Amino acid sequence: KLDFAERLAKRLGAKVQEFDVRAVDDVSLAIAPGEVVGLVGESGCGKTTLGRMVAGIIPPSSGELIYRGRPMAALPHDEARQATLKIQMVFQDPMASLNPRLRVSEIIGEAPRVHGIVSRNEQADYVASIMRKVGLDPAYAARFPHQFSGGQRQRIGIARALAVQPDFLVCDESVAALDVSIQAQIINLFMELRRDLGLTYLFISHDLGVVEHIADRTVIMYLGRVVEVAPSAELFTKPNHPYSRALLDEAPRVDTRKRTFAPIRGEIPSPLDPPAGCAFHPRCPLALPRCRSERPSLREIAPGRLSACHLNDMQ
Ligand code: SF4
Repeated sequence: KLDFAERLAKRLGAKVQEFDVRAVDDVSLAIAPGEVVGLVGESGCGKTTLGRMVAGIIPPSSGELIYRGRPMAALPHDEARQATLKIQMVFQDPMASLNPRLRVSEIIGEAPRVHGIVSRNEQADYVASIMRKVGLDPAYAARFPHQFSGGQRQRIGIARALAVQPDFLVCDESVAALDVSIQAQIINLFMELRRDLGLTYLFISHDLGVVEHIADRTVIMYLGRVVEVAPSAELFTKPNHPYSRALLDEAPRVDTRKRTFAPIRGEIPSPLDPPAGCAFHPRCPLALPRCRSERPSLREIAPGRLSACHLNDMQ
């Protein structure tokens, strides 16, 4: 993007100014094997960046990713490659993430063959078994992505991720582009795969109803930082942080299966110039004078519950 910006600036005779933006800052998150963690926040809060870092797609500028007790960066090359395969990502828009020129058999079968999981001779049978696992008819393996419906394309995206035998899926708004009835089918598929394969999930979504339904634990992010972590059953009934409360209060409740949050009062501050103190203070109805200058740290407020709010010091 900077290359494009530089070329454009050159044509306009302008200068490109670089900024230090912390899309994700001071986040530490431990996810247990087999757990489903929901990651929630408004657009631009850093949840996609965090998901991509967990999946190894973008490296953190500082900090580390620890997989099964070992820092990924310290693993020997072959082990690092194997560990990277174990964490796969399922994207929002299956059409954009699937190569339109490849047949489904190639989309699903290429990576396991390249990584030595199956031989060329075994590839067709292997692809058929993965297609069955995600509810696709193997008879359609020779078709191209555009010949499938949106829900089927997402199943192809899930099959592609499963084909390299991961144990961790990062799902970034993976059901957001689908109709509600198709969403339910894909969520059920995720849960079946969790039960059958013991998969772990980081489930990024702006749909609170989906997260409440699917996640054991929910993490709320605001402007690049985690502000609350709690078991979903507790967070959705008794949120602690004023931002979590605002998200839940603003969520339309006419159809409780679809609780996508509405904008909270005030603008999200620019990550280029985040507010001092608590980043939520310009929008917080409960802000104290100290909130403008002192940044609250994320601390345990009850067993298994973390929150970053000065109000917890007063209880
Ligand atoms: Fe509101 Fe202050 Fe808590 Fe931030 S620290 S959420 S501004 S009360």
